[in-house]
Order: sequence, then C-alpha cells, then structure tokens
Amino acid sequence: MVRRWSGGRLVIASHNPGKLREIAELLAPFEVEVVSAAELGLPEPEETGTSFAANASLKARAAVESAGIPALADDSGVSVTALGGAPGIYSARWAGPGKDFKLAMQKVEQELAACGAADRGAAFICALTLAWPAGTEAAFEGRVEGQLVWPPRGTQGFGYDPMFVPEGYDITFGQMEPAAKHAISHRARAFEKLVAAVFKTDP
Ligand code: IMP
Repeated sequence: MVRRWSGGRLVIASHNPGKLREIAELLAPFEVEVVSAAELGLPEPEETGTSFAANASLKARAAVESAGIPALADDSGVSVTALGGAPGIYSARWAGPGKDFKLAMQKVEQELAACGAADRGAAFICALTLAWPAGTEAAFEGRVEGQLVWPPRGTQGFGYDPMFVPEGYDITFGQMEPAAKHAISHRARAFEKLVAAVFKTDP
C-alpha cells in the first residue's frame, strides 16, 4: 500500500528548469507546497544508476536526506529504437556541459543518418520516485511513443521536444501548447499514476 500525501512541503529533486515548470503545472490542482532543490541549495547528485528508475530513486533519496522533507524526482529521456535505446538515461549528457539541446538533437540526427536506419521511432520515458523521510519510496513510470523529425520544429517545451512527434499527431511537442503536451506526455502519464496512488482524495 502506497503512503498517501498528508500535506506539507514537497521538494522537487531537479535542477532542470523545464522539468520543474512541468512538474509544478502537473501538481497545481493538488494542495502541495512545492519547493525546488535549487531553492533549498541542495547539491545535484551524480546519476550513477543504470536505469531511469534507479536514477530517479537515487535523486529522490539524496534530496530527502539533505532536506528532511518528502522529495519527488524525475528521471527521463528519449530512447531511439534504431540507436538501441540511446541516448536513454544519457539524454541530458548528450547536450554536453553547456546543456545545448540543439547540439544533442543534431547528434541524434547524425547517428540516425550514420546507421542509415529508415526506422525513426522513439519513445520518451519518465520514471518518478517519491521518497519519504522514513525511508519508504513509491515509483511510477510513463511512456509516450512517437517519431523523430528533422529539422526540429517549435519553441515550446524543452530538451528534445522540437524533434519528437507523438503517435497520432502531426506536430512536435515543441509546437504544442503546454496543456496539450500534459494531456499525453510520458511525464503526465507517470504523474497520473502518482496522483491516483498518493494525492487524489476519494470523491
Ligand atoms: P535527467 O532526467 O535530468 O537526467 O534529464 C533528462 C533529459 O531528457 C532532459 O534534460 C531532456 O533533455 C530529456 N527530456 C526528458 N523529458 C523531456 C521532455 O518532456 N521533453 C524533451 N526532452 C525531455
């Protein structure tokens, strides 16, 4: 049985402004006082896990231990079928120290061209971990399938959004209004599970 939310502050264990904005928007309907890791001056732990879930757990645990309040961490990325799942858990690292996602998208496009693959299928994956000071954790995962396009399109969202067209659409996440992305994204799908288990009150 997953522990239910009983009020108070929740630290979002991320230094990524795009993620922080989306997580705050997704939690807005619930009475959660959200504070970011940067506001509390928490360090960014090294992501040494070998899966999205392991990295989400590691980030949530590091934040809960430093802040002493419940922490929510998101580990996510894009997994490209023809590249054997790359960049995957290394999605942020492909952008280099300058966090240059134009460069990261170019790298994905170059690797696809180099392997001559006709398959441009990809999925965004999001692992969420909510960790409590007492040591318990709850984990949830969401995923959205799609196709990669080139050149990138749109200025909304963040990261690899401008080159990802979700299944059933003909525009990229970068061309979608935030509410439209929140209706279908990997993060929104993981959040649906988290909200149902932890935040939603019975009608
Ligand atoms: P990390 O989870 O902090 O290691 O970083 C995940 C990286 O994956 C981000 O920096 C983005 O580049 C990418 N990513 C994750 N979610 C999204 C999304 O919703 N849109 C675009 N890129 C994303």
